Amino acid sequence: MIPARYPLILAPTPLHRLDRASEELGIDLWIKRDDLTGFALGGNKGRKIEYLVAEWLDNKTEVVVTCGASESNFVRQLAVACAMVGIEFHAVVMDLPYDQAAGKPKGRLVATGGNEKISRQAEAHLHKVQDDDWEVLFNLMDDLAERLRATGKKTAVVPVGGSSALGAYAFFRAAEEVRDEGFSQIIFASSSGSTQVGLSMALRGTLTKVLGVACDPEPEIVHDFAVLSLELARLLDSDRIAAEEFLLDLNFVGPGYGLPSHEGAVASRFLRESEGIFLDPIYTAKAFACLLHMARAGKLPGKTLFWHTGGIPAVFNEYAHS
Ligand SMILES: *Cc1c(COP(=O)(O)O)cnc(C)c1O
Repeated sequence: MIPARYPLILAPTPLHRLDRASEELGIDLWIKRDDLTGFALGGNKGRKIEYLVAEWLDNKTEVVVTCGASESNFVRQLAVACAMVGIEFHAVVMDLPYDQAAGKPKGRLVATGGNEKISRQAEAHLHKVQDDDWEVLFNLMDDLAERLRATGKKTAVVPVGGSSALGAYAFFRAAEEVRDEGFSQIIFASSSGSTQVGLSMALRGTLTKVLGVACDPEPEIVHDFAVLSLELARLLDSDRIAAEEFLLDLNFVGPGYGLPSHEGAVASRFLRESEGIFLDPIYTAKAFACLLHMARAGKLPGKTLFWHTGGIPAVFNEYAHS
């Protein structure tokens, strides 16, 4: 069955060559502008939300619950979408959720950032709790969903970042916008996994390598990708991708999830000064830092695509070191 889509974004998003950056780096560099999806200030989450909303409208969902960082781009866009279609929206958020095993990173947001401001404008019910491990956050989301269900309203829970089978399906379809362009590699910021799983499933067996740049420090995240890949495989009636087959570079996380890195700041400046294009500090700047590193190491033969996944409201965030 082909999942239904509730149209929100402007697709296909623009795809163009970066002439000045290409010349400076000595590579053939292109960009996919999911920062310009045109819905709720742009970003890759709009693609996923189109399929999620269609399902909720179809099954008469009244309340949606998710979780994430206060600066989540997914929470921001979902808040706006739910307000549009009259669904009550709740998110349990932490300023900087972290992975216990990797350790609590140093640094903090000094004020409410761009995404949280928009989520509040969209009248999302944000349940802000103290920073802790991701697992704690997921459990709090489930508890909240139980309480809301107990009031008798039809309630849907959507995983962090919108990484359900439908979220991955959205990126499986997005790959159609680039698959015939002959790219040797696609580089992008990877976190909850549906971008990477969808693109990887769509482009396997082609000459295009799908390379995610991790924004979270935990290497085990590829196991979550494999689980998501199995869910998408069931939807498509195809085969999954195993954990060890995902190409994920873990070297550009910096101080941790949700905090800017020095290499990211340098990368943002490079793209701003060469092309006038902005990157966000949490995701896209880290991915572009990896791309710069590979370009300078001579590791980007052929045509390279940087898939800009958005995050623009976080450009206005302010951070402190402690
Ligand atoms: C969510 C997000 C990502 C990561 O996408 P996933 O599908 O969660 O892996 C990358 N960049 C930006 C700006 C995002 O908001």
